[in-house]
Amino acid sequence: MKQNFFSMLMIAFAAFIISCQPKKETPAPDELASHVDSGINPGEDFFQFANGKWFNKNPIPASESYNGLWKTIQDTINESVKQICLSSMSANAEKGSHKQKIGDFYFTGMDSVSINKEKLNAISDELKNIQNISSISDLASAIAHLHTIGSRPLMNVYVSQDYMLSDKHAVFFWQGDLGLPDRDYYFDNDSRTQNIRAEYINYLNNVFKTLGNDETTASAKSKSVFELETSLAKSSRKLEALRDPFANYNKMDAARFKAMLPLFDTDAYLTGINLTNPDTVIIGQPEFFATLNTELKKNSLDSWKDYLSFHLIKSMAPFLDDSTFMQHFRFYSTVLRGVEVPRDRWKRVVMTTDNMLGELIGQVYVSEYLPKGTKEKLMEIGMAIKDEFANRIKTLDWMSNATKEKALAKLNTMIFKVGYPDKWKDMSALSIERDVYAKNIIRANQWEWNYMINKFGKPVDRTEWHMYPQTYNAYYNPSNNEIVVPGCNIIVPGYERKLADDAILYSIIGGSTFGHEITHGFDDQGSKFDDRGNLSNWWTEEDSLKFFAKTKMIVEQYNNYTVLDSLSLNGDATQGENIADLGGIMMGYEAFKKTNQFKEGKTIGGYTPQQRFFLAYALAWMINIRPEALATQVKTDVHSPARFRVIGPLSNMTEFYEAFNIKEGDAMYRSPEMRIKIW
Ligand SMILES: [Zn+2]
Repeated sequence: MKQNFFSMLMIAFAAFIISCQPKKETPAPDELASHVDSGINPGEDFFQFANGKWFNKNPIPASESYNGLWKTIQDTINESVKQICLSSMSANAEKGSHKQKIGDFYFTGMDSVSINKEKLNAISDELKNIQNISSISDLASAIAHLHTIGSRPLMNVYVSQDYMLSDKHAVFFWQGDLGLPDRDYYFDNDSRTQNIRAEYINYLNNVFKTLGNDETTASAKSKSVFELETSLAKSSRKLEALRDPFANYNKMDAARFKAMLPLFDTDAYLTGINLTNPDTVIIGQPEFFATLNTELKKNSLDSWKDYLSFHLIKSMAPFLDDSTFMQHFRFYSTVLRGVEVPRDRWKRVVMTTDNMLGELIGQVYVSEYLPKGTKEKLMEIGMAIKDEFANRIKTLDWMSNATKEKALAKLNTMIFKVGYPDKWKDMSALSIERDVYAKNIIRANQWEWNYMINKFGKPVDRTEWHMYPQTYNAYYNPSNNEIVVPGCNIIVPGYERKLADDAILYSIIGGSTFGHEITHGFDDQGSKFDDRGNLSNWWTEEDSLKFFAKTKMIVEQYNNYTVLDSLSLNGDATQGENIADLGGIMMGYEAFKKTNQFKEGKTIGGYTPQQRFFLAYALAWMINIRPEALATQVKTDVHSPARFRVIGPLSNMTEFYEAFNIKEGDAMYRSPEMRIKIW
């Protein structure tokens, strides 16, 4: 459920701190102004007005599902990580050192000759283990083992803070990932989804043929796996139904859970994941596990073996030979996201190495690539936004003093983790070899799994980070009542050589990053957790109803946006992010009003400080995305697409109307009483 709390964020860059370049430069044209498509009326489509010229000049590369600010920043980070990988590889490093692990991991990933020679041999032990299943206990043990190596068949199990007792760890059983990206893909009957289903079955067929089956057998196996997944999908909750933390919290004695699943050998499973005898477990979706039991009765062991083999190949394909990789790429990247060709191998391997060994890479990144003073600058902006949030809580016209006091207490105790962690995770137990790429992937996944499981029964470490400093993103974690903003959020492309003006810093880093994450502490989910990170209702009943009426307006506003032909936004599923976007930009603007730039009112690049603030906000979401990827995002992501992250919040801000002279009749116009303000 971690990913639900991780919210996508923004920006980046490095300039102001990167040391003075002695070389004299002719002043570059203003970056913000250079993106503006002045042929478009800002009130019709501010997203396109602010970014249109950049989109026209920068088509989406064949290897990408989108182009824009995030890609520009990710490219910069990839270059840094690549240098770290290359210098580690050539370092002749001592066995067990960070350099040896990074270097050998990267080496095996780049060794395409060996990868193609190995083919499925790289995972033959794992495939054999599945074929050797001969009892219901073996099945549970095999599933457990697959979970430890990074494959996720059937269900999601993890150790994390108990929602109700944030000082303790609990074991969660959660509905499983399916082969298609969301349960709705198994049932929706529009032509886009029908085509995706047909392509998915085609992918299943190809995998079973790769495993040595003839056409008829492969087809029968595909059908059986697809039917099994359809049953699981039927009992899986929709994206929006997973939002309510109360409804997805069902704590019970482990014995009761075992009795719910008489056909699953829960003890064998727990032993297999190295977890001994938890007294209680938290079940996210009991109906899913009831169905799982029914399916265990309905399907033969051979069907289960096919299901597990497919999911193993699916999870490992990106690290295997070209043919296995391309089958996976064709479905998950081309069909689902419109990508034409894979990224260069070095880029894929850099991103995988960073994903798996980012804790080691981050230590080098912080000392060699992160501009000095990043942490302090980020913290300064973050504190200005926090103060603003406090001011706004105090002056809210719809909330009683009793609830305000609790809200302020929650804000005051909110932890700000900024830049990079004070201490790094100990990865000395992880062994990386210069042998087979897929084996290194499995080793790294096993380390990660053991790290998580080992938390059980131990005190909660509230200093832990769930992102690396070089991860361009940020998150709010309600169990710790904390926001986490990695260092690379300092990057703002286009401003590498000069300090970005406050309009940009307060809009992107202030509003879209800090303001957004702080507001998550008070969105439809965050508002259900108290200052200690425990699920509890701290609202008066009346305030709670008023808050719900406001969030309902947000849901309706976004439900009314049509994204692509007949596809509309899911206002319920995206409400937390939309509430955070709106709160963030309002807070960023209030803090910006206190800066000298705002008070002096000088234009830069032909735009006033107010106008620059809103142009910079659109820059934060300058993302041009392929229609296939857009459709997938709408059905699977709790974040609204970039265009709506701009026009949605801005159409609620009277200051924006004033800055760009938005009038009744403009597409973005909302009458004053329809403009939503929550925080
Ligand atoms: Zn978010």
